[in-house]
Amino acid sequence: MAGLGPIAVALAPIRSEEFAALIAVRNSHPAARRIAVVDVGDVSVAADLSRALTLSQVDYYVGQPWASPEEELYPVVGEALRAWAYDEQPRFAKATVVDTPGSGRGEQLVGWLGRNGVAAGFHSSDSAEGQDLRAGPLAGLQLPSALLWDGRRLGNPAEVELAEELGARTRPERDLYDVAIVGAGPAGLAAGVYSASEGLHAVVIEEYAVGGQAGTSAKIRNYLGFPWGVRGADLAAQASRQAEQMGAEFVVARRAVDLRVDGDERVLTLTGDDTVRCSCVVLAGGVSYRRLGVTSVDGLIGHGVFYGAAASEAQTMGGPACLRPRRWELGRTGRGPAGCRWR
Ligand SMILES: Cc1cc2nc3c(=O)[nH]c(=O)nc-3n(C[C@H](O)[C@H](O)[C@H](O)COP(=O)(O)OP(=O)(O)OC[C@H]3O[C@@H](n4cnc5c(N)ncnc54)[C@H](O)[C@@H]3O)c2cc1C
Repeated sequence: MAGLGPIAVALAPIRSEEFAALIAVRNSHPAARRIAVVDVGDVSVAADLSRALTLSQVDYYVGQPWASPEEELYPVVGEALRAWAYDEQPRFAKATVVDTPGSGRGEQLVGWLGRNGVAAGFHSSDSAEGQDLRAGPLAGLQLPSALLWDGRRLGNPAEVELAEELGARTRPERDLYDVAIVGAGPAGLAAGVYSASEGLHAVVIEEYAVGGQAGTSAKIRNYLGFPWGVRGADLAAQASRQAEQMGAEFVVARRAVDLRVDGDERVLTLTGDDTVRCSCVVLAGGVSYRRLGVTSVDGLIGHGVFYGAAASEAQTMGGPACLRPRRWELGRTGRGPAGCRWR
């Protein structure tokens, strides 16, 4: 299949001869989304289907027959196409950042923009593109510098400055809120949706990226309402849109650094010295994990370096063993715990 050109979506009936080829599409076209077709009412395929989804051999399934393709087929194919396009098609870069090679700050800004759902490009200042930008629209600006899609330019911007330029709110609007939520991970986003939907004036304060840890997940399979799983970034975008539509306010790129009681009110202080007054505070700051602090290792997190494994990973570990653990044998001498040796 390597010579076929791009494949966005492939379908095959489960248990058919073509199904093995469907699974193998991933080898030649890693971004292609694969859809298993199952016969409606054939419960005998349930275990095979569940296993294929768990092992990421397929991404979606669709039941046949259908009265009209609009009813069953198009929604699934449309979702598969959207996911493929997100990975494979060029996105509209709202910001282009240029920085000195090796500084790391430019990449940090691009990473922060990406975590907040803003596609951004990066050029090293010694590349041809970087030099053109520095000689042209970014001339005279301190590095890292950023060029926005409409020509606005910033020299050495802080995250809060970039957020404001991109239209995000970084200061509270109201004098008093019913509820202030610290943290916009899944817990804070849920608190935002449900407090605002009950008619409360709610504000969600996020210091880094809406979505929290969940926003970094390539695919969350156990979140209610997403049978095929959901990309963490999509979950964050949908949930924050939902909270805003309910009337919740978001204050981003600000950290809550202090909380005190003032009569009937709670007062949060944010970095930059703004305060948020409210009747009730929900602390949804999640956790942050202590890391080794080795820069070269940090770059590999999620790509072979992991800080923990969930029990739910066990179901993806079926099939032949690729590593055979060696066992200690008792009662022999050799290196190892006293009286044991490797077998
Ligand atoms: C790569 C990855 C994949 C995962 N996949 C899954 C999965 O498939 N299924 C699953 O169940 N779980 C998964 N998890 C775990 C799941 O993401 C977390 O359990 C979940 O995100 C916790 O949600 P939370 O809202 O409590 O906290 P968090 O997601 O940690 O969010 C807390 C937010 O609060 C912000 N914050 C903290 N302090 C302040 C402050 N003082 N002021 C302002 N903001 C602040 C942080 O910046 C952060 O955005 C995954 C985690 C990771 C890292």
